[in-house]
Amino acid sequence: MVLCEHFRIAHRFLKNGVARVLTYTLREHNHVLTIDFRGGVDEKAPATLTPLLARLSAKVITLNMEAVEYFNSLGIKAWAHFVKPLVQGRKVTYENCPPDFINQVNMMPLLADSIPILSFSSEFVCPNCNHGQREQFDATEDKKVLLAQFEQKICSECQSQLLPDEDPETILSFKNS
Ligand SMILES: [Zn+2]
Repeated sequence: MVLCEHFRIAHRFLKNGVARVLTYTLREHNHVLTIDFRGGVDEKAPATLTPLLARLSAKVITLNMEAVEYFNSLGIKAWAHFVKPLVQGRKVTYENCPPDFINQVNMMPLLADSIPILSFSSEFVCPNCNHGQREQFDATEDKKVLLAQFEQKICSECQSQLLPDEDPETILSFKNS
């Protein structure tokens, strides 16, 4: 079921053309280095991640996942190889994790081992007008608070209460570890 979801999301991005290769931008503020990733994480990801790891000297790093479009199984392996040495002697966090990445973390918790998830987004759909909408969450909140927030999202088109695209308990599995 999770796999179907993964393929559906990948398809959603791919139908608009070939997926973009993984790239990034670095920005530093108050001694925190933020890496803004963009594109797909697939078998070509090591070409981006290996040289990136070699050039990083910052000790506090935020991985901004907002514009990451999808992961495939080879990309996930590459990502695991990237974060394992990255956390050695560093404080690393994830922010703006998209739904696909949260799915991957839930299947493979070591992706977020020693890397707290600060924020994430989930897909919602309106039962009244069928409008789809992505909503942000503060992942540092208690699971109970987050579950309540999943029931309070409002359609920007018709103001009806939105329904989550996936079971919130499943989405929030990463909060259990
Ligand atoms: Zn609506």
